[in-house]
Amino acid sequence: VKTLIGIAASPGTAVGPVFFLERRVPIVDKRIAADSAREWRRVREALAQVSDSLRTLMEDCERRGNQSAVPIIASNAQFLADPEIQAAIRALIDHQQANAEWAVQRGFESVIDLLAGQEDEYLRARGKDLAELARRVLEALDDRSDRPADVPRSPSVVVADSLSFCDLAALDETLLQGICLAQGNSNDHALILARSTGIPAVIGLGDGVFSISAGEIVRVDGTHGLIHFDRDRNALLRVKEPAPPETAGRRAAASDPWAPAVTLDGVPVQVMANISSLRTARAAFAAGADGVGLLRTEYLFAGSPQVPSEEDQARAYQEICGVFRGKAVTIRLFDAGSDKPVFGLVSPHEQNPALGLRGIRLGLAEPERLLKPQIRALIQAGRTSKLRILLPMVCAASEITAFKNIFAECAQEMSRSSPPAEERIPIGIMIEVPSAAVMADLLAPEADFFSIGTNDLTQYLYAVDRTNSSLANLPGSEEGALLRLIQQVIDATHDHGKIVGLCGEWGQNPDNLALLVGLGIDEVSVNPFFVGAAKTVIGALRCEEMKTLARTAVGRSDLREIRELIRRRLAPA
Ligand code: PEP
Ligand code: MG
Repeated sequence: VKTLIGIAASPGTAVGPVFFLERRVPIVDKRIAADSAREWRRVREALAQVSDSLRTLMEDCERRGNQSAVPIIASNAQFLADPEIQAAIRALIDHQQANAEWAVQRGFESVIDLLAGQEDEYLRARGKDLAELARRVLEALDDRSDRPADVPRSPSVVVADSLSFCDLAALDETLLQGICLAQGNSNDHALILARSTGIPAVIGLGDGVFSISAGEIVRVDGTHGLIHFDRDRNALLRVKEPAPPETAGRRAAASDPWAPAVTLDGVPVQVMANISSLRTARAAFAAGADGVGLLRTEYLFAGSPQVPSEEDQARAYQEICGVFRGKAVTIRLFDAGSDKPVFGLVSPHEQNPALGLRGIRLGLAEPERLLKPQIRALIQAGRTSKLRILLPMVCAASEITAFKNIFAECAQEMSRSSPPAEERIPIGIMIEVPSAAVMADLLAPEADFFSIGTNDLTQYLYAVDRTNSSLANLPGSEEGALLRLIQQVIDATHDHGKIVGLCGEWGQNPDNLALLVGLGIDEVSVNPFFVGAAKTVIGALRCEEMKTLARTAVGRSDLREIRELIRRRLAPA
């Protein structure tokens, strides 16, 4: 049995035959084409073909209940109609008598090169999207590649260099047993999607992943970031897995998924779920989630060309709250902007969208169109359901005050038309911008609860673009700055008698979860497929012991030794 070590990107294990996802990169030669009109026609047809195929892909995703994929595909598709790219291609055909293929390659490259030279990470990342689109247009121009891309027809582990969001969305997820990538970044949308659908994935395996031969069986261990491969399936089944501990908590979780997660010394921790649709709500409830820690509403209405109506929103929120039967459902306001362009609200020409008009800033900038319909829908749904409101990307107290003023205005208007007057919905904020984390003690009196968003907090704290695959290993597992900041936030919140949870991907790593328990976190919110595992991990811990380890950890610049100690505690006896 051969083993490769990569980066754990989606937990769980799977054993299956390898399927190499071929991403054809057509070879392009320059030819002189006398008939420029014909070449330009071919380009337009190819652009239309790719646009159609992306539209079909979006429809497929919607039909399969995978709404969250739609806005991301849509934002890529809009480049196909970009007048600058089309003008560059046309100029090459008209002035150099270039063939369509060469003009497309060079036309796209001229814009990609321009983006690659930018300081702005976001624009450079858009260059990657453009390269993927160019590849698809070249494929459409290739008469011989009329056949659709080869996809697995039976259950398989997909191996590829990288996986674009559209590649993943095109695969039948019921046949997708696991994912192994030579490259990749665990914050890529494709991998967030893999996690939310419970597909184990290991990334950053390097070119070694291509030493697997066709016909070999692969065992993907997405929890520990390992893959094993061999021709003999039985040999792989014998590979010893670092088994989760056998504890009272584990047994309880197995027999009753809704049993609360309680540490061995009796400290309860709420295990909630991150969801984005009715489908994931049902999966989360079935998995035993104690509620919803994060409903990403921008994904719930993905594909909607404009802001959904108050009525549509209220219905959707009530439906999801209904699934949770009185357990708390935390509904985050639209977190549009940056890597989540929705409802046509985002200017594509922002110089630096990750630092731009996004989250609550966008809501406050567009109260009539964006914020008020959502607030009114939440008040309406809140009359019959137990929900909490969560504000994304808060960086200062003034934003909370501004939101509360608009909320009060809406509540007053609504109570005039339909009593009861008092709308008491808890209002919390995401702690995902370093300024909010640093000022947690001063923000705590303004909010009913905090939810620490480590995906963005990591990005802004370490200056590491969450979408950049070349930074997939940053920050390293030894890095302690995030942990120290989390400790400060938890302590500040508790000093004010408020509740604090954590909903970023960071909390899904068992040793991070153990450290959070040690720091006194009240709630964690994780992908539906991690709910059971999180309850198991919590049930295996002694809180007092984790407290000591966590308090030691925040004083260290290198966390590896502490992590090793925790892993030993979590290992079976
Ligand atoms: C986060 O930033 O940690 C988070 C949970 O929100 P999102 O991933 O939607 O930005
Ligand atoms: Mg965020």
